[in-house]
Amino acid sequence: MSTVFSKIIKGELPAEKVFENERILAIKDIFPKAPTHILIIPKKEIPDLQSLQPEDYPLLGEIVAVAQELAKKYKITDGYRLITNNGAQAGQTIFHLHFHLMGGRPMTTLG
Ligand code: AMP
Repeated sequence: MSTVFSKIIKGELPAEKVFENERILAIKDIFPKAPTHILIIPKKEIPDLQSLQPEDYPLLGEIVAVAQELAKKYKITDGYRLITNNGAQAGQTIFHLHFHLMGGRPMTTLG
């Protein structure tokens, strides 16, 4: 598996990084759908949420913690979404697990 995100994680492609540690990278989405649109990506190559194994569950907690910190940093704690698209039918286009942190505008319906 070598996706765009794997290449960004390895430093083979550029990205605007907003957070990084040994396990997680967060970057600005290149085609933002909201004033704040950040992708929170575990560095481990996990294709999608459905593939996640129990040993990886701690990553989810860490992703939520990163989302909370970034929400504070970008001043969107009054309203944001943290979503993942699982599978092509749900709109997933890059098959390396990632969560969209989106905020900064009113959001009403999903769909
Ligand atoms: P998804 O459709 O859930 O798989 O989300 C993939 C997201 O990655 C989309 O919102 C794209 O705009 C974004 N994206 C694609 N290529 C890049 C890139 N090189 N840098 C940052 N974001 C990207």
